[in-house]
Amino acid sequence: RSMSTVTIPPPACMLRPLEAPLRYLFGPGPSNVPPRILAAGAKPIIGHMHSEMFEVMDDIKEGIRYAFQTQNNMTISMSGSGHAAMECAVFNTVEPGESVLVAINGIWGERVAEIAERSGAKVHRLVKAPGGYFSNKEIEQAMQKHKPVLFFLTHGESSAGLCHLVDGIGDICRKHNCLFLVDTVASLGAAPIFMDKQNIDILYTGSQKALNAPPGTAPISFNDRAWYHHKMFNRKTKPLSYLFDMTYLSNYWGCDGKPARIYHHTGPVSGFFALRESLAILAEKGLEESWRKHKEIAAYLYKGLEDMGLKLFIPDRDLRLPSVTTIAIPDGYDWREMLAYIMKHHQMEMTGGLGPSVGMVMRVGLMGYNCEKFNADKALHALQDALKNCKKSKA
Ligand code: PMP
Repeated sequence: RSMSTVTIPPPACMLRPLEAPLRYLFGPGPSNVPPRILAAGAKPIIGHMHSEMFEVMDDIKEGIRYAFQTQNNMTISMSGSGHAAMECAVFNTVEPGESVLVAINGIWGERVAEIAERSGAKVHRLVKAPGGYFSNKEIEQAMQKHKPVLFFLTHGESSAGLCHLVDGIGDICRKHNCLFLVDTVASLGAAPIFMDKQNIDILYTGSQKALNAPPGTAPISFNDRAWYHHKMFNRKTKPLSYLFDMTYLSNYWGCDGKPARIYHHTGPVSGFFALRESLAILAEKGLEESWRKHKEIAAYLYKGLEDMGLKLFIPDRDLRLPSVTTIAIPDGYDWREMLAYIMKHHQMEMTGGLGPSVGMVMRVGLMGYNCEKFNADKALHALQDALKNCKKSKA
């Protein structure tokens, strides 16, 4: 037989059409994508180094600066999901042997702690049960003890449904010569965050939550303190990842003041088109209106849930994450059965917990485009139906 004979036939699945059902994405993300953003992502591809593409990237930078409330020059989008931003933040600010302090009150701190460990850091974990809250005093005490170069906190803890306050923490970090890194993947556009005013040194988010873009891009910003005073420019070792090295990425995004942008990697052109459009919608709507809307619809959802006898997992309503609501699993019910029922009979995604919150919560997300009263009603109706029809387990 000749080497050129194909021995593996075309797979049968590839001869069938693609199936992507319409679904209510009322979990913690991705969220449904509105037609305008889908249309932007369907535009013809241009080259990743064409001048029109650089203009789109410049627009994205402006859009992120508005969404983050920052004037930082080093503001870009990762070619990758939220995890790419998590790794970019840690890889570029931490060198092997350095101390990192991570607040863990759900899965996201756990993940960042692992990422920091993989980059050779000495990681100190400040751990609470899912949905736990860290006082500024506790944070400062841990900082005094461990002298970290980086402190991580999740603003919108989507696995637990908590929205952590950040006021004052940036000042504590400055006092202790530490960078302040905040995750807003699940909260950006849904709850207020002010990167510059709150002295946050590194901030990132994702495209697929309240921004309503498809998954796969992730805005991130570094301030001058991270960049100049904390040696991102002047490292002893190179960052662990070539793809996520901010020296190259900042050039690709035109942030390094050099006259030419040099090829580093091929950015996801369609993903950037869609991200641009999602940031444009946020700019047109306005941050204040977006925050107000998420709060209003969340309050409406809380009332509906409580009216049907369900208990919210985060007792303090002021600390609830408006984009992702966590419901305590009702006594005697099997949460997996309820979620499967809702998917089957209502074509609706809601999810269980994640990491340490598995078995503790069910999660309902109404984000951006989905954040409407009629969607809250649909979610409430589906839950009511599941409560009625899912047999109570023996408990
Ligand atoms: N951080 C938070 C708070 C999140 O909710 C998520 C996504 N669920 C991530 C990080 C990770 O983002 P991605 O799945 O896009 O990598």
